[in-house]
Amino acid sequence: MIIRKSPSELEVMARSGKIIADMHEMLAAAVRPGISTGELDAMAEDYIVRHGAVPAFKGYGGVGTRMPFPGTLCASVNDEIVHGIPSPETVLDEGDLIKIDAGCVLEGYYSDSACTWIVGGEDAVAPEVAELVRVTREGLWAGLLAARAKQRIGDISAAVEAVGVRHGYGIVREYVGHGVGRALHEDPQVPNHGRAGRGPKLATGRVLAIEPMFNLGTEETVTLDDEWTVVTADQHLSAHWEHTVAITPDGPWVLTARSDETAHPLAEPDRIPVQLVGA
Ligand code: MG
Ligand code: MG
Repeated sequence: MIIRKSPSELEVMARSGKIIADMHEMLAAAVRPGISTGELDAMAEDYIVRHGAVPAFKGYGGVGTRMPFPGTLCASVNDEIVHGIPSPETVLDEGDLIKIDAGCVLEGYYSDSACTWIVGGEDAVAPEVAELVRVTREGLWAGLLAARAKQRIGDISAAVEAVGVRHGYGIVREYVGHGVGRALHEDPQVPNHGRAGRGPKLATGRVLAIEPMFNLGTEETVTLDDEWTVVTADQHLSAHWEHTVAITPDGPWVLTARSDETAHPLAEPDRIPVQLVGA
């Protein structure tokens, strides 16, 4: 069942999203060689709790032999795609890709957003690595721009996929975007591949997390023995960007937009900070 949110619910979700957006900005400034993902995780938890919210991932998803997720962040390094477990032993090096995924619950409403940062900046990596990070973000924004009433989920999926395909990346299929609201994962699923005009119809009041994961190699994934960490099967690098977006009468409203991004990409197209390929 796809749940629509009222304007007052969206207002709470926007405040939930702002906490995660601001947390990402704080962590982006802290990412440097020598810091551990465990330290970043502690900073994130402190930030979320101080702002009156609850980390959304901590304690999530213990099933069978799999332990509940122990971190506030999913912190995935290099060939780790998603669901990396933060640790004081995972110390970042110059040139690493660190994917930070986080969510919080505020007054019962979830937000969910992920960023990929290059430790030491773009000069610390080969041009194709910087391009992977940039293009994956373009894929996210292509999807966000398609998140409009009367479109369908397939329009978002196709827009994301087109960006990845144009660059020959492996587009991860096993992990997908999703509805967000009173649960972290609601219907519908939002795949990063699909056909325009197919799938559930989008309508005002829907809230989605759109989250492309593009790989330098193939799309194949492997889950490690910790039952959480998902890596590329061929050990090539992976990038991941995610925003929570509400569909409004005025177009997409990016609830987790950071201060360098526009919250209303249709209203403020010149503020989109990425060069959208083909847009
Ligand atoms: Mg996420
Ligand atoms: Mg998500």
